[in-house]
Amino acid sequence: MSLPIVIVGAGQAGLQAAEALRAEGWQGDLILLGDAPCAPYHRPPLSKAYLLGESTVEQLTMRGPEALERKAITLRKSSRVMRIDPAEKTLHFSHGSSLPYHRLVLATGARARQLSGADLHGVFQLRTLEDCTRIGEAMATAQNIAVIGGGFIGLEFAAVARKKGKSVTVIEAANRLMARAVSAEVSEIYARLHTERGVVLRLGSGVAGFTSTNGRVSGVTLSDGHNVSADLVLMGVGILPNQELAEAAGISCASGVIIDSGGRTSDPFIFACGDCTATRLENGDFRRLESVQNAIEQAKSCAASIMNKDRPFTAAPWFWSDQYDVKLQMVGTSQGHDHTVIRGDTNAYKCSIFYFAGERLIGIDSLNRPQDHMGGRRLLDQGVSLTPQQAADESFALNRLFQPEAAAT
Ligand code: FAD
Repeated sequence: MSLPIVIVGAGQAGLQAAEALRAEGWQGDLILLGDAPCAPYHRPPLSKAYLLGESTVEQLTMRGPEALERKAITLRKSSRVMRIDPAEKTLHFSHGSSLPYHRLVLATGARARQLSGADLHGVFQLRTLEDCTRIGEAMATAQNIAVIGGGFIGLEFAAVARKKGKSVTVIEAANRLMARAVSAEVSEIYARLHTERGVVLRLGSGVAGFTSTNGRVSGVTLSDGHNVSADLVLMGVGILPNQELAEAAGISCASGVIIDSGGRTSDPFIFACGDCTATRLENGDFRRLESVQNAIEQAKSCAASIMNKDRPFTAAPWFWSDQYDVKLQMVGTSQGHDHTVIRGDTNAYKCSIFYFAGERLIGIDSLNRPQDHMGGRRLLDQGVSLTPQQAADESFALNRLFQPEAAAT
């Protein structure tokens, strides 16, 4: 009997890898192992529509049992893998059983980084559906909310909390919002957006600790000694890749399981995709992308590699974030730009910022301008640039530059 392909981690990347393996022609057994008690679900709505009460658990669920059965994917819930034995090509579980594999895919994702003091009642992180349920319950009675970290998750949560009428303070160590991911121009626009909607921003503020009463948080002490009073604190201070299984198995890791563009790790029988991975850049640094697109594309590349095909993930990275009624869509990068062009109206939160390195377009951040984002994705994927003059000209449609065959689709 042939051995199964086993996928550890039943999230966005794991499920996609399973489905892509079927699409690539794998006909043997396919086992998807997840430590959560539920079917794979979408995480992005946890800090957006779902937290706001505008969507249901059913809408979060990616595939029901019938859909998995149709593709002959065996989902084993509440199954935590404790160890990989790469020499024996076998997985070991907490309850003592084991499972041999033909090929293994690691899609173990990431976990929220914690600050010390996180064990107080009223201090939360937001990574899982369980986290979101607990936060939702606590929000019902909370009045003063402190958000530590002005990144995407912290700010999306802040927007939801304001919509629910809470007093919100965002504490951010850097001197601008979302500094790791967006340009100074975008940070400034979002500082204005949140301030206008009533959020108090404490930029350039470190956290020294928490104050509490009877084990329940009552505030956050900043490094300058100031206390932000809070009966609910959300920590949005980044994530850590779940790479321990790989490390213990001797697989090369560097703030993520190191993979090539085909999802191959340093073990020829083990592949990896999604938030748990890191890829090497041309300058030798490692890059870890934390996005739905990355999870999906890397999973497809893994599946192709396992089936001895080549499907490197080379598309321009894209991401989105919903805050209030503003949808930010990003494609490419703003890092390394020397020139920006703004199209549209920043005051009305309906604009696109085009980033150029010399004459070459390297990225576009769009606020409530989906057509610029979609056009930009095609241009960047096709390696086509527009000129700064064309970018500045509202009447110049990006699709005029699409390659002929792509424009027809
Ligand atoms: P995960 O979804 O984390 O799945 C990994 C799974 O593996 C988890 O269920 C984990 O429990 C399981 N696992 C780990 N170790 C083991 C083990 N030893 N045994 C068994 N199972 C194991 N991205 C965007 O592009 N846009 C957004 O707007 C956006 N918003 C987000 C909002 C929130 C609140 C969060 C948390 C994330 C958001 N993301 C967003 C990021 C996106 O959800 C992730 O990049 C994506 O889920 C990564 O998928 P993954 O499968 O790699 O990891």
